[in-house]
Amino acid sequence: MKMPTKVFYSIIDQAVEMSYKGRVYLNWYNEPLLDPRLLNFLRYIKKRGLTAGLDTNADLLNPAKSKELVKQLNDSLNWIRITRYDCDRAKTRWLQSIFKKKVRWTDHHIVSHFSPSKALNPLIKWARNSPCSNTNRIIIGYDGEMRLCCEDIAGNFNLGTIHKSSLKELWYSAKHQKIVETLAKNGGRLKYRYCSICPLGGTKHLRWLKKGGIPTSKTVRTAPPVTRWTSIVGK
Ligand code: SF4
Repeated sequence: MKMPTKVFYSIIDQAVEMSYKGRVYLNWYNEPLLDPRLLNFLRYIKKRGLTAGLDTNADLLNPAKSKELVKQLNDSLNWIRITRYDCDRAKTRWLQSIFKKKVRWTDHHIVSHFSPSKALNPLIKWARNSPCSNTNRIIIGYDGEMRLCCEDIAGNFNLGTIHKSSLKELWYSAKHQKIVETLAKNGGRLKYRYCSICPLGGTKHLRWLKKGGIPTSKTVRTAPPVTRWTSIVGK
């Protein structure tokens, strides 16, 4: 299933009206290169004065077939993160030569509720009493439902849908604000079962959480440092 095209454009327009200053990402547990509307979407984001980022496995990009696509992506994107689990060094060099400083790489497992490891328990225990600011992104799923954070795949918090409420109404709803403010405090995770079993680390940097605060990508923090994860798994 895909988000209807007109819904996407409406969300961008509403974000601009809200004076949103962060980046727009066209991925959340999906592969954006599979969507033929991608370049149109990126152009619209740019036209509305916002910046765009993309996470992709880059499987659909190759030197022989995708020169034009890559050129257009390069023109539209401010940031691209590519997974390189396959260790294809020639392809990595090619992508680096095109995207240059825009590209970042992911070559390690990013821990989540769904990590295939029994070693999650020490990490959950470590994070349990810390605050969480991973709620600082506006995430609208393909189905129009607002999610609390990148981990909220199933919509555990019933935050409402863009099909019935405006982006502003969803973001500033009393329910959403209460959850965010609760999670900003030590021990707040214990109030919500899904958060109480979350292995993602907390942060003390919650400056954005001021009255009327709009998230910016500068405040994003998604996971504990890899070194810490590695040291816990290695025990
Ligand atoms: S504690 Fe985990 S599930 Fe809860 S908001 Fe933070 S990242 Fe999401």
